[in-house]
Amino acid sequence: MQVSRREREREHEHERGGADGGIVIIGAGPVGTVAAMYLAPRFGPVTVLERRQDPRGGGARRGRSITVMLSARGWRVLRELGLEAAVRAICLPIHGRCAHLPDGTSHTTPYSRDRQPIWSVERDRLNRLLLDAAEATDGVRIRFGTRVREVDPDGPAVLLEDGAGRRRLACRRVLGCDGAHSAARAALVARGARATVRRLDLAHQEICAPGGWLDPSTMHYWPTGDALFAAFPLPSGEFAGSLFMRHDGPSPSYATVDGGRNLLEVFTDHFPGPAAAVPDIAEQLATKDAATITTVSCDRWIHGDSLALLGDACHAMPPFMGHGMNCGFEDVRTLVERLDSTGDWASALVAYEKSRIEDAEAISYLSFQHYHTMANPPQDERAHAATRLRGRLYDLYPDRFAPRYEQCAFTEESYASVLRADRRLDGLVDDLLGRYGAELVAASDSRLHTAVSAAGTENLGDN
Ligand SMILES: Cc1cc2nc3c(=O)[nH]c(=O)nc-3n(C[C@H](O)[C@H](O)[C@H](O)COP(=O)(O)OP(=O)(O)OC[C@H]3O[C@@H](n4cnc5c(N)ncnc54)[C@H](O)[C@@H]3O)c2cc1C
Repeated sequence: MQVSRREREREHEHERGGADGGIVIIGAGPVGTVAAMYLAPRFGPVTVLERRQDPRGGGARRGRSITVMLSARGWRVLRELGLEAAVRAICLPIHGRCAHLPDGTSHTTPYSRDRQPIWSVERDRLNRLLLDAAEATDGVRIRFGTRVREVDPDGPAVLLEDGAGRRRLACRRVLGCDGAHSAARAALVARGARATVRRLDLAHQEICAPGGWLDPSTMHYWPTGDALFAAFPLPSGEFAGSLFMRHDGPSPSYATVDGGRNLLEVFTDHFPGPAAAVPDIAEQLATKDAATITTVSCDRWIHGDSLALLGDACHAMPPFMGHGMNCGFEDVRTLVERLDSTGDWASALVAYEKSRIEDAEAISYLSFQHYHTMANPPQDERAHAATRLRGRLYDLYPDRFAPRYEQCAFTEESYASVLRADRRLDGLVDDLLGRYGAELVAASDSRLHTAVSAAGTENLGDN
């Protein structure tokens, strides 16, 4: 591509802006683009460095999953950036999840008690929209095909590599929005931070499924205990499917499908409905790669007043609650709120880190738990009774107890306090079932109320 002289001058001006006080954001994923839009109007020039080519130019590699779900935390950020209507126009509302159980029955659970939907959007379309909006923001420049090799938080500066080779770019601050394999996080680890990067024991394969065989107002999933298939409606009327199965271990796992029964047989065995509904399922299973899911936790997210990590760079999580990106957007908003209220980067970064680490650990944990809830068909009597008793308690004490999914998706309550409340509710349910047995599930409201009061008030405390 020919770069004009004016364009090159503009680039150098922008780099000089970077050196005298500009912000460098590594990564033009959803979190990096959103961060750029918040920061440039407040603090001047922002340079976003993205190792990939511009996906709007065609020929770019597809993202990791076809759809992402937006919930309240994500919408709050899009609203603040003036993008709510534009994103809403490319989204589809999804009202609940429908489990297709091995015994042939199906069972729909609304996402919230007042029937609010979450919103499904194609990742690529959202990404393009955010890139357009970021580039239209005064002071934001995105440089594609530019990989950051190293971060020097003390400079601060980054060592970047693009078509012209490697060079150092000095700047005033660095925000690491560079995903699970973050170069910015590596700089913190080199200075003593402890990070755990794990490959989840589950891999997933994307399957495109036609429309017309499932209700398009809910997501659908087939729990088998050993593997999970999920299908999300798309605005096109089709479904974005995901097969989740173990990498290793006994069959069914990706490690065993080549040696023993092949993947199509395993899929057909476990998911006969989807196997019959997707005409080219054999070809898709044979040709699409199984993607790894990486999780990250890190005990330090900042360095002085010069470096902060946001999004997957500090908390890549299992995808089962649909919160990785929503949580990353909330990181950006929290950081900006702290900057607005203190006006001082060093103390704002400390406050940001303090308020987010526990939340990130909590939603990561809840996401992992949610996989087990979804992947395993309801099992023993007690688990069944516990689920039903929880439902009774939500109805009887709507202001005290709420389903954790609903709290995460439709409120901005801290994830950590959602987890604490959920654990207290677990304790209460265990206690009640221990004292009164499963028959309490069908008791009258007044009997249940008396039983809860007798169990003590500690389980009913606020967060
Ligand atoms: C199967 C699946 C389903 C999911 N579903 C949902 C969902 O429904 N809802 C939800 O909220 N979240 C979901 N997530 C999580 C969500 O995708 C991530 O949390 C989100 O993409 C994180 O955004 P990010 O900008 O922090 O990182 P990324 O999206 O990983 O973006 C990082 C960017 O940085 C660039 N980069 C990396 N290293 C460098 C470097 N050294 N130099 C320059 N550039 C670099 C990358 O190319 C990339 O563009 C899902 C994840 C998966 C895997």
